[in-house]
Amino acid sequence: MAGMTTKMTMQDKTMTPDQLPRVTYSNIAEDFSGVHAHLDRVIPQVKAEMLGRERANRIAGRDDRDGEPFTAVSPIDRDIALGTFWAASPDAVDRAVKAARGAREAWRHLGWEKRAALCHRVAEVMTTRRFEMAAACLIEVGKSRMEALGEVEEAIDLVRFYADELVSNHGFGRDLKRANPREETRDVLRPFGVFGVIAPFNFPVALSIGMSISALLAGNTVVFKPSPMAGLTGRLLADCIAEAGLPEGVFNLVCGGAETGAAIVAHPGIDGIAFTGSHQVGMAIMRGFGVGGAHAKPVLAEMGGKNPTYVAASADVETAAAGMARSAFGLQGQKCSAGSVVFVHDTIREDFLTALKGKADAIRIGDPCERDVFMGPVISPAARQRFERAVAAARAAQAEVTGGRVLSGGLFNKGDYVEPTIVTGLPDDHALHRDELFLPFLTVRGFSSLKDAIARGNAVPYGLTAGVYTRDESELDLFLDTAEAGVLYANRASGATTGAWPGIQTFCGWKGSGTGSKGGLGTFYLPQFMREQSRTIMR
Ligand code: NAD
Repeated sequence: MAGMTTKMTMQDKTMTPDQLPRVTYSNIAEDFSGVHAHLDRVIPQVKAEMLGRERANRIAGRDDRDGEPFTAVSPIDRDIALGTFWAASPDAVDRAVKAARGAREAWRHLGWEKRAALCHRVAEVMTTRRFEMAAACLIEVGKSRMEALGEVEEAIDLVRFYADELVSNHGFGRDLKRANPREETRDVLRPFGVFGVIAPFNFPVALSIGMSISALLAGNTVVFKPSPMAGLTGRLLADCIAEAGLPEGVFNLVCGGAETGAAIVAHPGIDGIAFTGSHQVGMAIMRGFGVGGAHAKPVLAEMGGKNPTYVAASADVETAAAGMARSAFGLQGQKCSAGSVVFVHDTIREDFLTALKGKADAIRIGDPCERDVFMGPVISPAARQRFERAVAAARAAQAEVTGGRVLSGGLFNKGDYVEPTIVTGLPDDHALHRDELFLPFLTVRGFSSLKDAIARGNAVPYGLTAGVYTRDESELDLFLDTAEAGVLYANRASGATTGAWPGIQTFCGWKGSGTGSKGGLGTFYLPQFMREQSRTIMR
């Protein structure tokens, strides 16, 4: 598929892919007709040329098929085989770790300028392949066109952002003060060694490359495991990294699920873990990594969310409803940052709910390969069953459920398609207000005091994102001062709690959501892949 540079037709007859506007999560109002016209051509090509093939693991620069083969299918249509992948055996994981260990000294000694230059080259390769990667991501996890392209653009910006961070910090070294004119001290950050990078299914390009490129720029080598549902984009990333010219063994790909992940975590040759995924798995890794070993090792774990939005009496109801619908139902609610609970001031409750239900009603659900489809399928039958259980629990609690159906007929029988769902009237202490569902499922709570509402929104085990809609500066100040989440947004129609972008926003969690700035896009993320060393020399 490399070399897919077909010229545009329709109104963009003269435009090459390079000239098309960039899709981000915020520029929803732009005219993307040229982008759509190009995708109309690329998606069928990707389906014809990239799916259903063998996608081996990559260890020490070579294809590796040691392990259990498995076929992954598209959630859009389970009859579409994405390809055959190999759940790496413990031996294969061991070889990947050894390859990474073998490559690490040369990679470290290459120096930060050359590492940054090579990683910029990765961004260039990804840029030339961005449409095919977006189409692959779309088919692989069921994202809408705009979500998939936005993710790939974000991924490219992440690579550039972190490479530039390394350069602007001069490789993270600085001279300190002197106690004595003849004694000089320099403080440096240096790599830990080999990082295991374990990624979730929902942002298979951006989060995989965000974590991996940070580990690499810092001078570590990597053993990377994508989600078992995202081996296709995982392999495409490995190919981009190889094409950019990173030395063999510096980046190794092993596919598989929990067992392969556990083998990486348990391997004594792994010096650090970068994980993004569920709270349950992340906490288990944090509790277990390096236990029984000779010394402490770092785990960077970015986990789930239960993200509140507050709609104050002074809010612009249309903007609030638009931003809420995008955050709650975009990517079928399968974002760590999805808005999953909304607190609405009692005086505007009816107006807001009418506007929000109107937005939910207007959402087109279907095959996300098509232009106007906003919601595709949820990722798996297990996710659909979780949806059914949540709807049943809401009904059992006498709540009012708008939506709530699993769709059937035609394509809907070939995947797991559910309606955007809004639940009102749940008891305030109900678990559905508290537990991450990772579904297009929004619960509504009322309030008369914004201060109390924020306290209730804070009282969840997570702390990832939060949003507010208000036209009152004192309410905005109250929100900024008291909302505990790592990422705060106000008055955005493009997303109440979602849509961060590298270099523009950062992405940070705390409590059950993680430890700080994130693989997504934290300004202070890169240094976490390094340890500090102080060097005092008497001259
Ligand atoms: P998951 O936790 O099920 O899986 C994540 C990764 O961990 C996968 O690669 C999986 O194979 C691997 N894994 C599973 N069990 C393991 C084990 N015992 N040892 C080692 N690795 C193991 O998550 P998911 O369903 O892929 O993704 C959804 C979750 O990710 C949600 O909870 C979401 O909130 C979270 N997420 C968080 C962020 C963030 O930045 N905070 C971003 C995206 C997704």
